Amino acid sequence: MDILAPQQRSRLMSRIRGKDTAPEMRVRQVAHGLGFRFRLHRRDLPGSPDLVFPSRQKVIFVHGCYWHRHPGCRYAYSPKSNAAFWCSKFEANVTRDRRTTRELEALGWGVLVVWECETRDTDALRKRLVEFLNNEEEGRGHDR
Ligand SMILES: [Zn+2]
Repeated sequence: MDILAPQQRSRLMSRIRGKDTAPEMRVRQVAHGLGFRFRLHRRDLPGSPDLVFPSRQKVIFVHGCYWHRHPGCRYAYSPKSNAAFWCSKFEANVTRDRRTTRELEALGWGVLVVWECETRDTDALRKRLVEFLNNEEEGRGHDR
């Protein structure tokens, strides 16, 4: 369903593609509030993850639902105009995201994807971050 006017769409796209998006800021705020230390956009890692927790060897990506195709999410609707063009764009994004996750995991990093729509519920977000960041099973490689 094409529910956004072109002007809204371009604003949405620029927000989703840029760094320091509102969803990303929300995740940073929550992680910071929980007392976790992290770095931003480390370019020496595959996909330059949005948040990097070096001492825990974990990373978090904050993905826009539309641009990164959140499965089953209402924000990941398909545009009606230029459908083929957008389809190939979306496919490239999803493929890149999968490859990035594989590469990071192969290097021993734990990877969490937080979707844009999941950052609206601060309590749920806080819980997820705590679970992910305190879980010793994720990250630090699989051959401990
Ligand atoms: Zn979503």
